[in-house]
Amino acid sequence: MDRRTFLKLAATLCTVFGITSIPDPINAALKKIKPQDLPKLIYLQGMSCTGCSISLLQAQSPSPLAMITDYSQLVFHADLSAISGSKALNLLNSYISGEAGEYFLAVEGAIPELMPEACMIGDKTFGQYLENAAKTMSGALAIGACASDGGIPAAEGNLTGAVGLKNYYAKKGIKKLVVNIRGCPVHPDWVWHTIIHLVKIGVPDLINDAPALFFSRKVHELCPRYHDFQQEIFAKKIGDKGCLFKLGCLGPDTYADCPTRWWNGGQTWCIDSNAPCIGCASQGFARMKNLPFYRLSEPHQPV
Ligand code: SF4
Ligand code: SF4
Repeated sequence: MDRRTFLKLAATLCTVFGITSIPDPINAALKKIKPQDLPKLIYLQGMSCTGCSISLLQAQSPSPLAMITDYSQLVFHADLSAISGSKALNLLNSYISGEAGEYFLAVEGAIPELMPEACMIGDKTFGQYLENAAKTMSGALAIGACASDGGIPAAEGNLTGAVGLKNYYAKKGIKKLVVNIRGCPVHPDWVWHTIIHLVKIGVPDLINDAPALFFSRKVHELCPRYHDFQQEIFAKKIGDKGCLFKLGCLGPDTYADCPTRWWNGGQTWCIDSNAPCIGCASQGFARMKNLPFYRLSEPHQPV
């Protein structure tokens, strides 16, 4: 059995038998969460397409419902909250003001620093909410490429001055814990497992402000087509088998565990679908005209 077949079979078996890729410490922490101390989560969206929220709802283990009821309490999410209008805003404001207790902030989407009114929540700008939350929250997660580094809204041109959360806080002189979970969209495991780690174990080891648990190795290093790369068996067009390096694959420049974690409950992932990695988990994702989704120029030497 070759390496590619083995990895695919292993991922499928894990899904079928409910064996998940939950790291041991996270699994142990999940068991320790008691109904009376569920972490509260406030989820705010700025310049985003809501793709990360959709992806979070594809979680397999724990399920999204378990995550926001058994393992955490979702206080506010514009799309998922059962309440709306002034009731939802009052609830949100009671936490942001510090009256209602401790909470973690999850942020999806970039912040339009130069055009604050481009993103409003009620009568306040998204930026005002973020600045007020910095005084009361326990910490923040920047969910996805846009919240982490600006993402597509911050692509060259950037009329709104879109920036990621950490950068926004730095410009305002705010020093607060921000954990970046890059990806466009994020993998649900990356987010849910990080929340559990933050709440029950503490701040995970970070590389470039992102959890090392998921982002310490390059897609290329773990890729089932690495053998093809070494043998110089290259795909000539999208959809071909073989290493996708010559089609502009950004796996050699991207740190993420997609080749071992897989997506859609272990069904597939980008390269398994014969599509090059577009580097969606990298800091510079889709930001530069000369490096959009694929490498256009002659590739540099990969690892
Ligand atoms: S270049 Fe892309 S397809 Fe080829 S081995 Fe690296 S990550 Fe896999
Ligand atoms: S393989 Fe690359 S493009 Fe695909 S999800 Fe992972 S980091 Fe993003």
